[in-house]
Amino acid sequence: MASPDQGNKKLRILLIPFFATSHIGPFTDLAVHLAAARPDAIEATVVVSTANASVVRSVLARRHADNKAVRVATYPFPAVDGLPPGVENLSTVTAADAWRITVATFDEAQVRPRQESLVRELSPDAIITDMHFVWNAAVAADLGVPCVTFQVIGVFATKAITDLQSSSRAGLLRDTITGGAVALPRLEGEGGPEILIPETELPEFMRSQEILDTSVMDRITSNAARCFGRAVNTFLDLERGYCEAFATSLKPGPTYFVGPLALSPAGGRAEAAEKVGGSSPCIDWLGRMPSRSVLFLCFGSLTHFTDAQLVELALGLEDSGKPFLWVVRDDTWVPPKGWVERVGERGMLFKGWAPQTEILEHPAVGAFVTHCGWNSVLETVSAGVPVLTWPMDFEQFIIERLLTEVLAIGERLFPEGAGVRSTRREEHDLVSADVVARAVARFMEPGGGGDVARGRVKELSARARGAMAEGGASHNDLKRLIDDLMQARTERSRSKLMA
Ligand code: UDP
Repeated sequence: MASPDQGNKKLRILLIPFFATSHIGPFTDLAVHLAAARPDAIEATVVVSTANASVVRSVLARRHADNKAVRVATYPFPAVDGLPPGVENLSTVTAADAWRITVATFDEAQVRPRQESLVRELSPDAIITDMHFVWNAAVAADLGVPCVTFQVIGVFATKAITDLQSSSRAGLLRDTITGGAVALPRLEGEGGPEILIPETELPEFMRSQEILDTSVMDRITSNAARCFGRAVNTFLDLERGYCEAFATSLKPGPTYFVGPLALSPAGGRAEAAEKVGGSSPCIDWLGRMPSRSVLFLCFGSLTHFTDAQLVELALGLEDSGKPFLWVVRDDTWVPPKGWVERVGERGMLFKGWAPQTEILEHPAVGAFVTHCGWNSVLETVSAGVPVLTWPMDFEQFIIERLLTEVLAIGERLFPEGAGVRSTRREEHDLVSADVVARAVARFMEPGGGGDVARGRVKELSARARGAMAEGGASHNDLKRLIDDLMQARTERSRSKLMA
């Protein structure tokens, strides 16, 4: 029986991300935005496995979010054969352990009861779930509350993957591959040549169907179809035609384009940068470099380079003659003998977790070498920094096409025809020091590719800020999401009272 004062209680929204930092980040950002939009009326809680609570807290700290505004609740991660206790995040494991986490995620018998008992205890008014947790539409339906999926990658890549998957299911993917490549969707009326992607650059799970049981994809699709709606971390002006095609193809149910969420509510980023300024050696070093002179290199939370590739990259950066700030995740890696001395003050090698969003917003940064992870894409677009692309895995080669062939905000670091690129490391050619040096020198040259792309990305940056500002498209969609969830609660209370 609903209490008569239910309408005055805060709307309790649970946000449930997958076990990876690059999912927990945007889910936490979404929680921050929801809570900031209606502090008096919304209680947002990020629900993660125990060891991932610290990831949520560090995002909250970086965003200077009030800890009371966004809560964190934890459930136990299941015991997984071969996985040491406390290892619960794709971003902090070896490639073999990453696979164990992915497989465990889809083990409904293991994960669902642990997650669901916490969800029931927290008694939410709405659930916002990662698509990996394929049972949440059913859990929400049982509780009588709406379930919204939240997609942490944009619609260009999602649409490409779903289109290719339907061809694959219909047995057509083989037929679609001509000369070893498949065509990605260009929109009707959109100019430009066909966007082709070689089979070797398709996400691994599409290349070897046996790796992830195809039924997993079916479970993801049918869970999504049972949801109330979907939110996506993108903004209309970034993927406009694709957003429209995506929303139309997925009707019924509303679609909310709410990004880029790493931009703080009410333009708080500048303030955040000020507070962070001076606290990181990267920011201190950037402070000594001329405006737009530095190439920033950071490859996300999951990428592992071979030692041979790290050496080529180091030598290429040295030979380019351009200033660089290079983030290497493996803090045991040692550059070639004499490299540090030869590079001197021109380059900074940073080992560990760098403050990427603050770095991208620093005036000394002129370009970004990115692996094309979606969060990095949104962050560089928000900051107005052009890119050199170096995709490696998952949907990154598809996103590269959006950046270089649709938006034209950067260039490929490893040019077409220079060798085999592949989502399988063993197939991928080493990117030589020479290729790195030439691409970097050309792109960073005054009047070079970087300057040309900068004009376009600056324009998108202004539009990203506009989208997130009061009255902007993403801000309006966030409000629409809140209104729809409030409305669903009102209807639920009404029908309970009438029952
Ligand atoms: N990131 C960071 N510091 C690092 C490495 C990564 O802050 O040293 C952040 C980056 O800003 C982004 C996220 O980690 O928000 C990486 O997500 P992305 O989708 O780009 O790549 P993934 O980790 O999924 O490959």
